[in-house]
Amino acid sequence: MWIGVISIFPELLASIASAGVLGRAVKRGDLAFAVFNPRNYAEDRRRTVDDRPYGGGPGMVMLAEPLLQAVAAARAAAPSPPLVVYLSPQGRRLDQPKVQSLAELPSLVLLAGRYEGIDQRVIDLAVDEELSIGDYVLSGGELPAMVVVEALCRLLPGVLNNQDSILSESHLDGLLEYPHYTRPESVRAASVPEVLMCGDHGAVAKWRRKQALLRTWRERPDLLSARRLEDEDIRLLRDALAVQAQGGSGGED
Ligand code: SAM
Repeated sequence: MWIGVISIFPELLASIASAGVLGRAVKRGDLAFAVFNPRNYAEDRRRTVDDRPYGGGPGMVMLAEPLLQAVAAARAAAPSPPLVVYLSPQGRRLDQPKVQSLAELPSLVLLAGRYEGIDQRVIDLAVDEELSIGDYVLSGGELPAMVVVEALCRLLPGVLNNQDSILSESHLDGLLEYPHYTRPESVRAASVPEVLMCGDHGAVAKWRRKQALLRTWRERPDLLSARRLEDEDIRLLRDALAVQAQGGSGGED
């Protein structure tokens, strides 16, 4: 997959794009990543990319022309016609199904705004979609753009060393993931649930499913009401809730 990000702070993107799973994906060539700086398309010697808003009011607005040229440069560099997404608190909220559909695209351009935002004509003329990472306002679209890149990079074929880890992750099948434990067996008198050390893969899988259902029920009941549970899941959740009502953790069999 090819991703181009338009930003006046390329150094912010570079550090994220060089670390961890994403850094490895870029190095291996599973993901081609390019940055386009609107300052390179500014018309004056000071490389200005913002100006005061028409009609008055606080702050500055990003100029249309440098952004439009940066989008054109990104389109020209993309190996296939890209979807152009503007990261904005006014966009549709990002979720895992959206990440999955973006990960299927061959080319994507992410536009990061700054200041009070960008000239509306850039959105009208060059943007296909607006995406928000949540109902709060950040100072720039760089972190939201990299949130999108990180989330979809995990789904690209070959990027994760263990592809199975994707399958159980939170939100992948509409549930939160079960809890994880690693060595040592006891941390400040808190021990690892015995079922995880018994070597019975069936029992482990059942315990994890129960925990995923129970966590989702407790923390995100909205996710459960948005999906249809299989009969076996309903049974597991009922068992877990009954155990919990009797004072257990709910994970016992
Ligand atoms: N004045 C704008 C408004 O009220 O909608 C907010 C502008 S914000 C200070 C500057 C830039 O940060 C935006 O252009 C956008 O690219 C980015 N941004 C801020 N919050 C965001 C969010 N929740 N999701 C995605 N992008 C965001």
